[in-house]
Order: sequence, then C-alpha cells, then structure tokens
Amino acid sequence: MKYAAILAFACLLLADASAALADSATPLVEVVLTQEQQSRLTPDEVLRLLDAGNERFTSGALTTRDHSRKVRAAAEGQFPKAMILSCIDSRIPVEDVFDRGIGDVFVARVAGNFENTDILGSMEYACKVSGAKLVLVLGHEHCGAIKSAIDGAVLGNITAMLENIQPAVDSVSSDYEGPKTSDNPEFVHLVAERNVLLTMENIRRRSPILKAMEDEGEIRIVGALYEMRTGRVAFLD
Ligand SMILES: [Zn+2]
Repeated sequence: MKYAAILAFACLLLADASAALADSATPLVEVVLTQEQQSRLTPDEVLRLLDAGNERFTSGALTTRDHSRKVRAAAEGQFPKAMILSCIDSRIPVEDVFDRGIGDVFVARVAGNFENTDILGSMEYACKVSGAKLVLVLGHEHCGAIKSAIDGAVLGNITAMLENIQPAVDSVSSDYEGPKTSDNPEFVHLVAERNVLLTMENIRRRSPILKAMEDEGEIRIVGALYEMRTGRVAFLD
C-alpha cells in the first residue's frame, strides 16, 4: 500500500511537471537564421531585436531553446545578426543578456572590452564576410578591468593589457573634480562609459572597412553599458 501510494504520488508529480512544461516551457522550435533572412534585416532592426531580447532577459521571460536541434541545423554555416564585443566578466552571459541562441551573434571577449588588431579582424570578418549588421561594444558597471586600470595595477601581462584602458582613465581624469579612485562609483562608471566610446572611435579609425560600411548604412557601430543590478543594457547615444 505504502509503495503504491508513493508511486501514485510520483506519477502525479510527473504529470504536473509535464503539464507545466507543455504550458510554459515548450522548447521553441527556432530555425537558424538563413543568409536571405540575414540580408533582409537592417542595422536598426537588429538593434531593436537585441533591445527586445534584453527586455525579456530582465523580465525573466527568456526564450526556451532546443539547443541540440539548433546545433545540428547550424552545422552547415552561420549568418549571425550582430557582432558583440564584451568584457570577460562571468556575470554577463552575453547570449542570454540579449535572449539570443545558437547562430545568432558573434561574440568577442576581452577584459575591458577594448579593440585590438585581432578583434578588429574578427569584426571585419563578422560584418564584411559574414554579413552581420551591427557592431555592439558592451561595457559594464563594476568592471574589475576598469578598476584595475584606474588603480594602475601591475602584474604580468595584465600590465600591458590595462594600457588599452588607460586612455579612458586619462580622458575622464582631465576634467573630473572628485576622487579619481576605484572606490568612487561615479568615476568608475564614467571611465567605463568613456572606454566604450573610445573603443567605438578606435574601431572607426583603425578599420576603414567597418567605417565605410557604417557610412554606407550597411552596419551600425553602437555602444552600451550593462547594469549589473538590473541586467538592463543601456544603449549610449
Ligand atoms: Zn569587466
């Protein structure tokens, strides 16, 4: 009797679980973006898609995806919509932040989200060769790399890496009146924002290919800051 009761209870739980799955978490049968679908998208539409995806992320309404199906569907090629340059911070799962799945976005990551030759080459590949319509430089609040640059941290290869962020620190410092330390959240925020803007400038200056694509309206180069507490991505004008 006791065993039968436990079995019945387990069956009830399973039935509930499958009903809940059917109601709210049915894996979305998504198709991987085709080259034709990609080519029809405008840079502004891609930006709106990312913004809408971020709204779903912040409201806890992430799309449930059938990843194994998409892995197989994407095996033949890829036509992602955007190229995102992010910091390596583990608190920012880039695809989730924009509610994107397999084959949707290129992501390059380096501590402090700055550009260099390899990242510019990757961006040119993403846009010129693979047809991505948007380059997004995604900085974030409470960034350890930004704080380390402000503090002038010296350690191994980190020293040389932080030199890439130093121009943003110097730029904000030149007309900032308050404490210029990593303990000052306002200063850290301003440097993170300036670092995104300078990175966008550097992309345009150092990549004639991307600059020309932007001038022709084929792509947009935009910047944003990820808000740690809310998960919201605030796009910079
Ligand atoms: Zn960071």
